[in-house]
Amino acid sequence: MLSERAGKIKPSPTLAIDAKAKAMKASGVDIISFGVGEPDFDTPENIKEAAIKAIRDGFTKYTAVGGIDPLKDAVIEKFKKDNNLEYHREEVIVSCGAKHSLYNIAQALYNPHDEVIIPSPYWVSYPDQVVLNDATPVFVRTYENDAFMVKPDALESYITEKTKAIILNSPSNPTGLTYDGKTLEQIAEVVLRHNLYVISDEIYEKLVYDGVEHVSIASLGKEIKARTIVVNGLSKSHAMTGWRIGFTAGPRDIIKAMTNIQSQSTSNPTSIAQKAAIEALTGPQEFIKTMRAEFDRRRKFLVDELNSIPGMSCITPTGAFYAFPNTSKLYGKSAGDKKISSSSDLALYLLEEAMVALVPGNAFGDDNYTRLSYATSIEDIKKGVDRIKEALSHLC
Ligand SMILES: *Cc1c(COP(=O)(O)O)cnc(C)c1O
Repeated sequence: MLSERAGKIKPSPTLAIDAKAKAMKASGVDIISFGVGEPDFDTPENIKEAAIKAIRDGFTKYTAVGGIDPLKDAVIEKFKKDNNLEYHREEVIVSCGAKHSLYNIAQALYNPHDEVIIPSPYWVSYPDQVVLNDATPVFVRTYENDAFMVKPDALESYITEKTKAIILNSPSNPTGLTYDGKTLEQIAEVVLRHNLYVISDEIYEKLVYDGVEHVSIASLGKEIKARTIVVNGLSKSHAMTGWRIGFTAGPRDIIKAMTNIQSQSTSNPTSIAQKAAIEALTGPQEFIKTMRAEFDRRRKFLVDELNSIPGMSCITPTGAFYAFPNTSKLYGKSAGDKKISSSSDLALYLLEEAMVALVPGNAFGDDNYTRLSYATSIEDIKKGVDRIKEALSHLC
């Protein structure tokens, strides 16, 4: 008999389509995927070399649970340089990817019946991590007209005695939008008034476009810094998804609890990856510029193309590597016996008719939208978009 906890986690709604796409690919069908959630760039050579050196030097044993001091110092330096945030070693922990950081936070913070506010559309793991820790996700819908930013007064209307925290994600997966400093200031006021915590997932910090400057809510003052737990990592910024390095900065008691929890689950992040992480944070950063420029080129191309498709409209994303077009005008249409009435129907139709994989918005809590990742070559983006246009032209 499985635990009640295991029963509470639903299989991801994207799984069925993803499984089908993989099966089609395996049987030789030429699928173009807009589903990817990781950079299509290789980890920079200097970072790989640092890891190889770590192996050769025999740096292959257990380390301090929350990461070695030189890595913590590199993380502290990063927060200082990029976000004007000052932390001590006791306020920083390195974990096995930012997802693990977020999970440790959930374990350290939530009690049964606590409520955690999650603006929707949201990243898929937020609600499940809340549920896995016996708390309750409370969704606050956000709108395209507000650049998918949660409105401070809307946020406030969802706060109860049970509210413990709010999860913010800027730049956002799936919307590709970013919060501005003024909105963050207003959110910070609400958070402080109600004595909540902010969990700020800033994993896409380095991927911003059109002159947008990333703002960490923690940087807006001493009071809000004391209530903010900042999560960041190397997966997206340095194309290091497989290395599993994420980090958290926040109040000492929370970091200490997270470290205790981590000591009883994974222990330290991989020793070799930690050495690579030091190089990633302190070595040359040109790679990021190159990657960002290429993402930017694809972003502009993809968004223009999507907006030229009848029935689709796409707000221009300012961060991450996702486009999030509104596809709801296509619902209600059909081609032969194939009727499209949801984002899942649309994704299935495009997979079968166009051999294109994308992620339905309902996976992120908003059925009116569909997510396309542009972490794939511009040639594939061109080909994929042409196929989408062709398949959608058969709808009436
Ligand atoms: C990719 C991603 C993460 C987690 O990345 P890790 O590989 O676990 O470091 C966290 N949050 C969001 C929004 C992401 O897209």
